[in-house]
Amino acid sequence: SKKPNPAIQSRALEILQTVFGYPVFRGQQEEIIEHVASGHDALILMPTGGGKSLCYQIPALIRDGVGIVVSPLIALMQDQVDALETAGVRAAYLNSTQSYEEAFRVERAVLENELDLVYIAPERLVTSRCLNWLQKAKIALFAIDEAHCVSQWGHDFRPEYIQLSILHEHFPDVPRIALTATADRHTRDEIVSRLKLDDSRQFISSFDRPNIRYCIVEKENPRRQLLDFILSGHRGDAGIVYCLSRRKVEETVSFLTEQGISALPYHAGLGHAVRTENQARFLREDGIVMVATIAFGMGIDKPDVRFVAHLDLPKSMEGYYQETGRAGRDGNPATAWMAYGLQDVVQQRRMIDESDADFEHRKIQIGKLDALLGFCESLTCRRVRLLEYFGESSSPCGNCDTCLSPPVAKDGTKDMQKLLSTVYRVGQRFGAVHVINVLRGISSERVLQWNHNRLSTFGIGAEQSEAEWRSVLRQAIAAQYVFVDNEEYNALKLTEKARPVLKGELTVLLRPYLKPDRRRKTRLLQ
Ligand code: ADP
Ligand code: ZN
Repeated sequence: SKKPNPAIQSRALEILQTVFGYPVFRGQQEEIIEHVASGHDALILMPTGGGKSLCYQIPALIRDGVGIVVSPLIALMQDQVDALETAGVRAAYLNSTQSYEEAFRVERAVLENELDLVYIAPERLVTSRCLNWLQKAKIALFAIDEAHCVSQWGHDFRPEYIQLSILHEHFPDVPRIALTATADRHTRDEIVSRLKLDDSRQFISSFDRPNIRYCIVEKENPRRQLLDFILSGHRGDAGIVYCLSRRKVEETVSFLTEQGISALPYHAGLGHAVRTENQARFLREDGIVMVATIAFGMGIDKPDVRFVAHLDLPKSMEGYYQETGRAGRDGNPATAWMAYGLQDVVQQRRMIDESDADFEHRKIQIGKLDALLGFCESLTCRRVRLLEYFGESSSPCGNCDTCLSPPVAKDGTKDMQKLLSTVYRVGQRFGAVHVINVLRGISSERVLQWNHNRLSTFGIGAEQSEAEWRSVLRQAIAAQYVFVDNEEYNALKLTEKARPVLKGELTVLLRPYLKPDRRRKTRLLQ
């Protein structure tokens, strides 16, 4: 490990205080700044709002020359430059929205050493024209913001990011700092290899949000459950409710309003003026519940959001983390609540299968959905599972539903075998309703039509309710024993993983189905 460099440290603190007006560094900022200002490469994983910008801005001010910031968010460049100029930092940007003269002025200012920071769109930076120009400049560092855009595994893949590896070849002596708030292991490895950051030091901030209580319930009557959730601990609080469709947003707003809760809608189908107005009211007034599609929340900085509720399943753990992360920014207790059911799983799978994405990409999305399902069905601490996904190990938190009211796992091997063999007996050609009917010995028209009342598994699960079997089926999907084939009318099919279960080589632990009365008792905990 390196020795601290007191000269850089005191210069960094001085800049923090006099230029940016903050008394102390946050988290790992000081360590990162010292590392980069001394000329070393770094990869920064820090949640949104953690304070990534200072990690390259201050080293750029300490080192000679201009700091070049690669950012894909052209719309935000102007804001960032304005903020820096207000603080007295000499900053500018280069992107396609500018005239030739404006761009030329910036380029000349760089060569004359008159700028501290320049933001550049990635597709522009990698042109030979731009690289030639930079060869003539004195460069303090390269900061690669939103570095996960280099990853095909990620949802924001940008092909031009891949070419950024040439920075290392053209400017081997200039330190590079890559920054992102998306940090699963896979993405991280891809950033390192594609940007050739093998010798960089990784600074991984904790993604834990200890003041957020995680809570996931089985979906039965979602609106009623949402109302109960709000009334039993969040009456009068500001919150966000996420739904998948515009129609559901509107229906939920009507329902909450009838129940005396101030709710407003936000989705892409509303006019710009209405959206702006609703957003302004949410920020300004107390206790507004914003019911929204995921279009809402980007760049919203409201510190006192006391809950985020999901009436539909997000697409991935990243999505869940980002959306729930909008709760409790002020550090006071907040709740992330979600109602989820079998239908959500089927719906999300269908959306993936019907998307235009190519096969590889769909496979990635399915993998991400499966990770989220595993999280929903978790028998252990939610936070441990969530952080584990982001590559962080922790111990049970005491502030999530499974910690506060631990589900007593039961041996579900027999039940799982009953389910899997029924899926098999009906030829892997029928959906959830039919399979559960056969299990429960229900002679529906379809069951009789296919003679499935004569199957050996007909009625072997008669002692359990439909809701209980749905719970077992969800867990079978989460554990990947079964998948829903959208190409074939949502038929349930077995995977390779089902085999050891059917052969009795594997014990299956199941999250017991909570009867509604038992649930009412645990509601206090939510
Ligand atoms: P990120 O890019 O990680 O999302 P930002 O760099 O935009 O985060 O910082 C988030 C907010 O925190 C900004 O308002 C920033 O001014 C503030 N901030 C960053 N570092 C500090 C600090 N050391 N002390 C106080 N506020 C800070
Ligand atoms: Zn926990």
